[in-house]
Amino acid sequence: MKELHSQMNRKTYYISMLTIIALMLSGLVLSTTELNGVTVGYVVHCLCITVLTVCLLLYPKVETFPFRLSIILMGFAYFYTLSFLYPQSWTTYILICLLPALAILFYDLKLFYLSLILNGILILITFGYNLLYNQENEYAYIHTDVVGNFINIMGSQVILFLIFHLTFSRMRKQELYFEQLQQSERLKMIAHLTAAVAHEIRNPVTVVRGFLQLYREDASFEQPVRNKFALMIDELNTVEQVTSQFLTLAKPNRELRPEKVDVKEVLEGVTGLLSSYAMLSNKHMEVQVEEDCIILINTIEFKQLLINLIKNALEASDAGTTVQVTTKREKQWVEMRITDQGSGMTEEEVKSLGTPFYSLKTNGTGLGLMICYNIVEKYEGTIEYHSAKGQGTSVTIRFLAKTD
Ligand code: ADP
Ligand code: MG
Repeated sequence: MKELHSQMNRKTYYISMLTIIALMLSGLVLSTTELNGVTVGYVVHCLCITVLTVCLLLYPKVETFPFRLSIILMGFAYFYTLSFLYPQSWTTYILICLLPALAILFYDLKLFYLSLILNGILILITFGYNLLYNQENEYAYIHTDVVGNFINIMGSQVILFLIFHLTFSRMRKQELYFEQLQQSERLKMIAHLTAAVAHEIRNPVTVVRGFLQLYREDASFEQPVRNKFALMIDELNTVEQVTSQFLTLAKPNRELRPEKVDVKEVLEGVTGLLSSYAMLSNKHMEVQVEEDCIILINTIEFKQLLINLIKNALEASDAGTTVQVTTKREKQWVEMRITDQGSGMTEEEVKSLGTPFYSLKTNGTGLGLMICYNIVEKYEGTIEYHSAKGQGTSVTIRFLAKTD
């Protein structure tokens, strides 16, 4: 808990604690008459107050778990001592029943359960002891109605448990909601930034594409060269659409319509593009695609999906290893699997995939898989990761096959 870092909370804390200390001291003053002078009991009482006062005043400077635990234990020592020193005051029993609530002050689940269990045990022991070994005139209120008192004491512990448990889970939910809100704010900011960058990129791309279109029509170039220009234009189209697709992070782009896509064709194009990237670091790619795998998806988004997944597989792979890409028909599904023999991931890491900004790479963005998960979800497909740390990863995506 770092709540006492705020000036306001600190002030409230000190005012409350000074009130408590004043109450404890007034109890101590009264006890000299009740205990008939300065007895051993009086000294113990005095000692408990001194230690507790020091702990409470020091706490804002030492907000650690061991210190919180010591305060709680001191609180236990203080109130249980009171219950033994002043058997006539039944109100001490109320305070004992409320002891676990001290942990609410620290908003610490572990401390709460610990003090609830400790209090349960201590209360049973003192209750039993007072009932069996003390005379009726000492703990008269217990003797008058044993069962009723016992039920009330236990009931108070259950009520405390309920209050704390429900409040804590509600607060957790709120915290989670707040975190998500912050994350979506960050996402929005990134979307705006990338939109600005995309806009800047689009202008030069349009110019280059314009020239390439001219060259493609220019008869002075040979046909194979003109075909390459056409290919370049195609890729520039992808650049343009991919950059503008970043806008979908902020607002969905309705222009990206689904179309009939031949997986083999797109996959061969993408792997052709990425094989030179793989060769740079001496990694290999193996592609096996069945014919007749047609799905309904937007080509640009499909390319983006494949590029992200294959690039991740290549980046995780060691030099000399191979990334396998296979595609086959499985009943009504078209199933694509990308397998690498790279670094692999733990179960925890796999669970975090698709979370915005989750990246274990030094220069990673952690946006690639988030976009992939969005695309898969948009076209009602599925994506599944199987990974073992140090052995490799396989990711399977499935989309409904388009038959007619
Ligand atoms: P980036 O590639 O920018 O880090 P991604 O969203 O593409 O972001 O991936 C997120 C993280 O998931 C990566 O940083 C990596 O740690 C992990 N990851 C994704 N694919 C693989 C894979 N095939 N093998 C091992 N780790 C992977
Ligand atoms: Mg990536």
